[in-house]
Amino acid sequence: LRLKIVQAGEEVLRQRGRELTRAEIPSPKIQQLIELMRETMRDAPGVGLAAPQIGESIQLAVIEDRAEYHRELTQEQLRERDRKPIPFHVVINPKLIITDNTSNDFFEGCLSVAGYTAIVSRAHSIAVECLNEHAESVKIEAAGWYARILQHEIDHLHGTLYVDRMAPRTWTTLENARRFWKDTSAKEIHSRMGAK
Ligand code: ZN
Repeated sequence: LRLKIVQAGEEVLRQRGRELTRAEIPSPKIQQLIELMRETMRDAPGVGLAAPQIGESIQLAVIEDRAEYHRELTQEQLRERDRKPIPFHVVINPKLIITDNTSNDFFEGCLSVAGYTAIVSRAHSIAVECLNEHAESVKIEAAGWYARILQHEIDHLHGTLYVDRMAPRTWTTLENARRFWKDTSAKEIHSRMGAK
């Protein structure tokens, strides 16, 4: 069983999601939604899925970065992205705090902008204050790729897509990103694709 992932152009992706109350988080409706979002994310597959992407305008996202997704990347690429497996968890009503604004530039894609990717600059380190799936307050500290995933998903909850933040001239089909730019540094991509 999987949910339909809506694509760019659906208004729900441009709305700010409603915050959940602590009381509604344990409800069967929300708990079932979390299960369905987990299955939908794994099926896609993706490393995060925000409720607006399945048509629900609420501030809830699921995240999971599995080791099996890292096979396409070399050890060096994993190291420079600071990418490590992240266990499944749920982020509700997040508040984002940037703790290290050093920017990291890498290709980023989105299940709601299927088939494309672009270089997006993201803060290196962040903290997130939110509720988890048990309605408990948690503070997450994240760096590198995990920080990127969180920034991308929290943007979704506020109606923002990566295309609002991308370096527009680096926008490419996923196919061409794999074909031409897979092993090229962001700096070189900027210089070769960037404005003359
Ligand atoms: Zn997305």
